[in-house]
Amino acid sequence: MKKYQMYVGGEWISPKSGEWFESFNPFTGEPWALIARGNAQDADQAIRTAHTAFTEGPWPQMTASQRGQILRKLGDLIAKNADRLAEFEVLDNGKLIAEMRGQLNYVPQWYYYFGGLADKVQGEVIPLDKKGYFNFTRYEPLGVVAAITPWNSPLLLTAWKLAPALAAGNTIVLKPSEFTSVSTLEFVKLIEEAGFPAGVVNVVTGFGKEVGMPMVEHALTRKIAFTGSDTTGRIINEAAARNFKKVGLELGGKSPNIVFDDANIEDAVNGAVSGIFAATGQTCIAGSRLLIQQSIHDAFVEKLLALAKTAKMGNPLSLDTQVGPVTTRPQYEKVLSYIDIAKNEGAKLRLGGGPATRPECGKGWFVEPTVFTGVDNRMRIAQEEVFGPVLSIIPFKDEDEALRIANDVRFGLGAGVWTRDIGRAIRMSERIQSGTVWVNTYRAVSYMSPFGGYKDSGVGRENGAQAIYEYLQLKSVWINTGAATGNPFVMR
Ligand code: ADP
Repeated sequence: MKKYQMYVGGEWISPKSGEWFESFNPFTGEPWALIARGNAQDADQAIRTAHTAFTEGPWPQMTASQRGQILRKLGDLIAKNADRLAEFEVLDNGKLIAEMRGQLNYVPQWYYYFGGLADKVQGEVIPLDKKGYFNFTRYEPLGVVAAITPWNSPLLLTAWKLAPALAAGNTIVLKPSEFTSVSTLEFVKLIEEAGFPAGVVNVVTGFGKEVGMPMVEHALTRKIAFTGSDTTGRIINEAAARNFKKVGLELGGKSPNIVFDDANIEDAVNGAVSGIFAATGQTCIAGSRLLIQQSIHDAFVEKLLALAKTAKMGNPLSLDTQVGPVTTRPQYEKVLSYIDIAKNEGAKLRLGGGPATRPECGKGWFVEPTVFTGVDNRMRIAQEEVFGPVLSIIPFKDEDEALRIANDVRFGLGAGVWTRDIGRAIRMSERIQSGTVWVNTYRAVSYMSPFGGYKDSGVGRENGAQAIYEYLQLKSVWINTGAATGNPFVMR
């Protein structure tokens, strides 16, 4: 088995614990790589190294244009290695090779975009209310950023954080999910070649409590950029608040995908099926609640079931596989337990409903694409994030009812609206409480378009030009151009 050390200060280091843990391939259920089990001391070393790189040495001496150039070079190197990195991700998270290749070939765009943006950040001259002063603002980096990432799209979600953070001039300590560390460790090999000085990007590996939390609590980390579950997000938010740290939290969802009777039905069926079964439902934006207008409900459900039944399951490295395994054993068990919860709540099982026993699934952690109808929005299956291939279908009468149901959850990440009525599309997009609304499409993301959550789905925005300001702080500089500095003890 290949053994992976951690990357700190441009060197590969072994964990202080002397311990290693196994990374599993969800398709075979077998371990395939050994990962360093980092702890608080490793985190401390990495953070101090990143802090030194932030305060001394070549990185803070570089111009923003030079930083941008290095970021663009990194983009080129990722592009060259995209297919190889995609394969590492599939071996770790079991997502389809076609999707991961697509993602990895898209990832360079984040480094190009934010690389280009690096030297376009500028302050302002303030037309001050006081005579004899010149006042201007400048944006400055925060310092050491701790980036903590999940297992579903490791290098894409790393890019969302790294590209703006580095463009802004920060240094980074990155901790990938303990379930999918390999692609990040392979990616970081490109950092030196791109031209980043040692210590600017560091990777520590291990478990959330053992190495993630010490990163959050460390006095020298100034921002925590996190994607993961809302449970962990809450813990991180509370810990970060104690030291007044900035946070970017991209958390869960229970996104409504809403189909009106005037929609292009074929498109809506395709959108609903890919909204929940793509990536085996393991995306924070999964369209896990499908709201269908009553007048078309039954016919729509039949069409959806017919399509969902055709999904080919199997080896995620095969190009013709359409639904892969669940990434982790605990997640597999969680998905199955939610299926039981839905059954017990009285939802009507229409498809799937358990582990996949098809021969092509072997010993992998597969769950059959599962569809429930007759779901009431107050049921747990409609309120809680499953993060798996489980769809809850809820009927509605009209626009007002659709909105009431759509917004009646504590999450607010994404939402889909399927209609041919432009007025309705705009009304819905105004009233749905979520960070993204897709009309007649679903799951689209871009490096240019802001992404983030309303309500319990998170704090801050990633992507889009303003994302760089999430990694900057504003300074106001006052210069006396002729105002008298009088004796403070002489009253005037
Ligand atoms: P999941 O349960 O789906 O794996 P998590 O939100 O727990 O999702 O994990 C996302 C990332 O957060 C992972 O890198 C994980 O190691 C990390 N993490 C988990 N718990 C903590 C914690 N208490 N403090 C810091 N990081 C954590």
